[in-house]
Amino acid sequence: MGLNISKGNIYGFIDRTWNPIKGKCFHDCSYCYMKAINKNQREADVNKNELKTDLTKDRYVFVGSSTDLFAENISSDWIKRCLNKCYDTNNNLFEEVNKYFFQSKNPKRFLEFIDHPVFENSVICTTIETNKWLPEHMRNSPKIEDRVSAMEKIANLGFETHVTIEPIMDFDLDELLPLIKRCKPV
Ligand code: SF4
Repeated sequence: MGLNISKGNIYGFIDRTWNPIKGKCFHDCSYCYMKAINKNQREADVNKNELKTDLTKDRYVFVGSSTDLFAENISSDWIKRCLNKCYDTNNNLFEEVNKYFFQSKNPKRFLEFIDHPVFENSVICTTIETNKWLPEHMRNSPKIEDRVSAMEKIANLGFETHVTIEPIMDFDLDELLPLIKRCKPV
């Protein structure tokens, strides 16, 4: 598949998507778009051919838009190989480097790799659909407080953060707003 031109409902500022890991997402959210369009997904696996993709230059690349790259079932080695690929691409460019966008419902896993130099030119994002814990929809996803607490640490380390409210679920504004503020989204 390689580097794809971003289309559909994805963020307007993203112009490319790259999915080095393919397959069933561990989080298994009831509302997952990828699950709906691909009912026979296999277990998540790194696609070695994807690691040969030319990530070009001067792009804003969403890495892992189709499955959560930082879910608990993804090995640290796989994640490192993907981060290295992004970093090495920029390192071989003199100018017009790529910016990378990493999104996970398991942001505490970002902290495992936070010293990786790729994050110096990246945005780190989590999803906060609501302030409420809705296990029938969120299934294996980390609890909202766990996501917020990890994002708060990441933001306090000086990294650029982003929060997506997607899909918008039933929420209490007075509780949701402070959670989002703690993530310090730029
Ligand atoms: S975290 Fe995202 S990709 Fe994974 S199941 Fe949930 S909606 Fe789908």
